[in-house]
Amino acid sequence: MIVDSCIDRQTRMPVAKAYLTRLGVALDAVKLVVVTHWHDDHMRGAAEIVREAGAARFACSAALRSEEFATLLACGAESMTSSMTSSSGIDEFRKILDALRQRRARGVPAANAGPDHWATHGQVLYERPARDGVSQARVLSLSPSAATVTRALRELGQLLPQEGEPKRRIRQGANQVSVALWIDAGYQRALLGSDLPAGTGPSGGWSAVLSSSTRPAQRARILKVPHHGSQSADEPAIWTEMLEAEPWAVVTPFASGRTPLPTEADLKRLIKRTPNAYCTGRPQGWSPVRRQPAVERTLREVARSRRTILGPVGHVRLRYSLEAADPTVELFGGALKVSA
Ligand SMILES: [Zn+2]
Repeated sequence: MIVDSCIDRQTRMPVAKAYLTRLGVALDAVKLVVVTHWHDDHMRGAAEIVREAGAARFACSAALRSEEFATLLACGAESMTSSMTSSSGIDEFRKILDALRQRRARGVPAANAGPDHWATHGQVLYERPARDGVSQARVLSLSPSAATVTRALRELGQLLPQEGEPKRRIRQGANQVSVALWIDAGYQRALLGSDLPAGTGPSGGWSAVLSSSTRPAQRARILKVPHHGSQSADEPAIWTEMLEAEPWAVVTPFASGRTPLPTEADLKRLIKRTPNAYCTGRPQGWSPVRRQPAVERTLREVARSRRTILGPVGHVRLRYSLEAADPTVELFGGALKVSA
């Protein structure tokens, strides 16, 4: 399965496609593609993957925000131009909808063609029973919660003009509607946290996952740390209720924001929880190239700090035998182990 996508800025290729190609795995072998939410750092190149992974089912969040809803309505209309799209996330969503419409083979009329799964909590996105000596595998969505979907529908309702009614605005951030995933494969379990936030009230985010009656009772040994290790997505209870002790935790840094993530404090919090924490790149980005002294001087006058966001695309590979205890960890590109 492929969850989310990003582009290698040097080769312009989706990194998951490049990776599978290097392993000699054709995209036809992919069973499931998930875009957890429509933020730029999670979906670039996803349409290319959907187009080429012809046998894969496609899942995204059932909680559509208004721009996404408008895109869904306009899909296939000739009048739809790129000027309607306000961000590259929405543009990628449109390209994916187009790609899904091209898949005639599934016997769905083009007008109704769309994602195979509008994911909410407790949905099975993929399941393969154990057979021929091969273990069972299952992928479950843990979010968005029903209340988050309700809020999204209310937000869509506000698009309809109401006479004499002041415009009330509900606006959920993309992170709030994002799809967290649970993977069972053999004896191994992984929790992929997407960018799902914590502390947004009992009916959404991680609180809703924790209180959900459909959440798996077992514990996972692998965690994709939610939202780039940020404090805003840190829910201590997932460590005590959903994860084994000292799980393997992988953080994906986000270097191009105003505050690069994870921060020093985020990393400190993480290594208190597990000695097995890894980061796919340098948390604070890479040092910029040094220029001539006069240029450096001027740059220092105008910028308080600088960092380059074009570092190598690193990755952390955890490989398990489906029956074995610990994974082997391999680090590529700028990936590193987080240590005190
Ligand atoms: Zn993100």
